[in-house]
Amino acid sequence: VKKVEQLDEIDGLILPGGESTTLRRLMDLYGFKEKLQQSDLPIFGTCAGLIVLAKDVEGETGYLKKLDITVERNSFGRQVDSFEAELDIKGIAEDIEGVFIRAPHIANVEEGVEILSTVGDKIVAVKQGKYLGVSFHPELTDDYRVTQYFIDHMVK
Ligand code: GLN
Repeated sequence: VKKVEQLDEIDGLILPGGESTTLRRLMDLYGFKEKLQQSDLPIFGTCAGLIVLAKDVEGETGYLKKLDITVERNSFGRQVDSFEAELDIKGIAEDIEGVFIRAPHIANVEEGVEILSTVGDKIVAVKQGKYLGVSFHPELTDDYRVTQYFIDHMVK
């Protein structure tokens, strides 16, 4: 999706990982922020995409504010502290491979947000209505079960 008009042609949107500051700048530049804030398109955010969806970001302001959560960026450490973990994700599976790269975690959830998975005491997957957010990168594995969950539960 490169142009806002294309949002009218899709049934759901995935905001992938990357760098949330860059995503935010580009979304401002191409008019996506307003359009997405007004729309009720289902959205699945992974890693940086989760940050873009959050209502609050520690030390910054939230952007799309679709998920009533507070995220903390880079909260598992630096690039060298990237790791993989087998995740138990409620309603999906107990053996999802989670790839964490300078990942955020969800520091706080408000009422209406369902916690789907944690790593230690850190929340790493949540859903709220048509929105799904995870700290890791399902798009970097061949396991499509998390994306399938988004399609089955939020898009369809
Ligand atoms: N550290 C990035 C950020 O804060 C997210 C990293 C990622 O998407 N792998 O935006």
